[in-house]
Amino acid sequence: MPKHMPTRLDPRSPLVLDTRDLPRRPGALRTIKRVVPAPADLGLELIGVPEGADLSLDLRLESVSEGVLVSGTVTGPVEGECGRCLRPIRDSLTVTVQELFAYANSTTDETADEDEVGRMQGDLIDLEPTLRDAVVLALPANPLCRADCPGLCPGCGVHWDELPADHSHQQTDPRWAGLSQLTRKEE
Ligand SMILES: [Zn+2]
Ligand SMILES: [Zn+2]
Repeated sequence: MPKHMPTRLDPRSPLVLDTRDLPRRPGALRTIKRVVPAPADLGLELIGVPEGADLSLDLRLESVSEGVLVSGTVTGPVEGECGRCLRPIRDSLTVTVQELFAYANSTTDETADEDEVGRMQGDLIDLEPTLRDAVVLALPANPLCRADCPGLCPGCGVHWDELPADHSHQQTDPRWAGLSQLTRKEE
């Protein structure tokens, strides 16, 4: 009896890898190059891969004694918005994946924690959790349209790029000036 009941995988699902034509002999190799549509919610709150966008898989599947080692890259577009100025960001992302998927009932399957290594489900490998982890790790939690984005003026909400260098909302009313001097004395 398996220790955990895996959800049934659909072999036609784009991120499910079928290993039926990979011999279970250590060293046997197969490569997978395909373009698949991105699943929903691949990414973070402010930035991610749009659902249905083209993801290019360039993977190597290698039989090892305990299972199948999947390694390679996944490339796709990312869209989001700048955490400082909310301008749209369009970029592309390449992530490296490398994970061992253990055969059912192998020593690794029986001894390793579930979050340490993946599990084969029969001849199938579900790449989606691995891909999600890799994408989330690669994306910035606070994306910027450019590294030195100055953001928006808190006074009027206009991007600093579009404002003159001496732009300010400082009060010029003399009564306010007096008040600020008072505050400074109290400090
Ligand atoms: Zn920005
Ligand atoms: Zn302003």
